Amino acid sequence: MTTLDITLQATTQLEDAHTSGAYYKRQITLVRGEGCTVWDDAGNAYLDVTSGQGVALLGHAHPAVAEAVAQQARTLITCPEIFYNDRRAELYAVLADITPADLNRFFLCNSGAEAMEGALKVARLLTSRSGIVAAKRSFHGRTLGALGMTWNKDYREPFVGWTPNNITHIAYNNIEEAQAAITEDTAAVIVEPVQGEGGVYPGDVEWLQALRHICDERGALLVMDEIQTGLGRTGRWFGFEYADIVPDMLALGKGIAGGVPMGAVVWRESLGTIDSGTHGSTFGGNPLSCAAAIAALTALRDIDAPALAAENGAWLLSELQAANFAQVREVRGRGLMLGLELRGRVTPALQALQERGILALPAGKTVLRLLPPLIISRAELQRVVDALRDILN
Ligand SMILES: *Cc1c(COP(=O)(O)O)cnc(C)c1O
Repeated sequence: MTTLDITLQATTQLEDAHTSGAYYKRQITLVRGEGCTVWDDAGNAYLDVTSGQGVALLGHAHPAVAEAVAQQARTLITCPEIFYNDRRAELYAVLADITPADLNRFFLCNSGAEAMEGALKVARLLTSRSGIVAAKRSFHGRTLGALGMTWNKDYREPFVGWTPNNITHIAYNNIEEAQAAITEDTAAVIVEPVQGEGGVYPGDVEWLQALRHICDERGALLVMDEIQTGLGRTGRWFGFEYADIVPDMLALGKGIAGGVPMGAVVWRESLGTIDSGTHGSTFGGNPLSCAAAIAALTALRDIDAPALAAENGAWLLSELQAANFAQVREVRGRGLMLGLELRGRVTPALQALQERGILALPAGKTVLRLLPPLIISRAELQRVVDALRDILN
């Protein structure tokens, strides 16, 4: 091996020379974060209204998460699930305390897509059925099973024939289509309580309640993809709480371990367990991720993150609606998960925000998505509103 002289200037060249090409990249190199701020390699600060793609619910470099990771790294990093582990057991207890009713069975994994794969397999194992009903505009991840449920044709078409073929897509918020699609062969109905990547569309309370009712009637499992909406984001611990229902299964990911990779499938204890050998993962439930998750979930609970998201999200929504931006058709969302439907393409608006030191996300081609850390202050949110006023009028 030769010695590599990697300077900061070489970062973009090195990445471009070796990246898969899978990602569209913005032209900044982020090297550090603290709270809601991230810094590039030239020392410029940015307000991070992406939360690193919905992950940094507690902001960046949260001291409790950092300390838990450092301490666990010195104690035991890896321990497969063929052994018991103290951190994993503790995480189960913390999770079971947050999830409602008897949502007390967990399969731990390493990402959102892996949680969706797990949800598919668990649903099939628990019901012995194979049909899946998902929604148009949905996003559930990029691995082949999750991709089959994901709606966007640009993501799915190159892989036609490789995704599960028992998936029916119905219109989101449409009760008649749900009535027609869910049958005695349906293993699971899988939806996001607020669609994220698809454009920030909140699920109607009546529709979610109808899904619960139809699933009960026909013996299908109701599965909520809470990978983006979960753990306080929408102003409740889980997005389904707005509909006053309890699903049979949840998928969690993104912020569950404070930025350390982790996913989880959660289901009702009354449904039973899956047989040994039917699923597994080398890194699933590893002590390092579990320690990070315990710290993150405890911190979210201590600050009452759902209440912060509810209060600040309601304020932000009303400010954005009252602003009546010339270039905005509609502002929608729940908690600190908001979308501005623009009259034109979103890319120039994102670039203009970045030039003003604010990072935000798209959700499709025309929706600007605001997904800040739940710890964001009013002053920081005010900065976002002021910048948007500049850009969208
Ligand atoms: C991000 C996301 C996923 C996929 O998670 P990955 O960790 O990127 O695999 C799945 N569903 C929803 C709703 C998401 O927001």
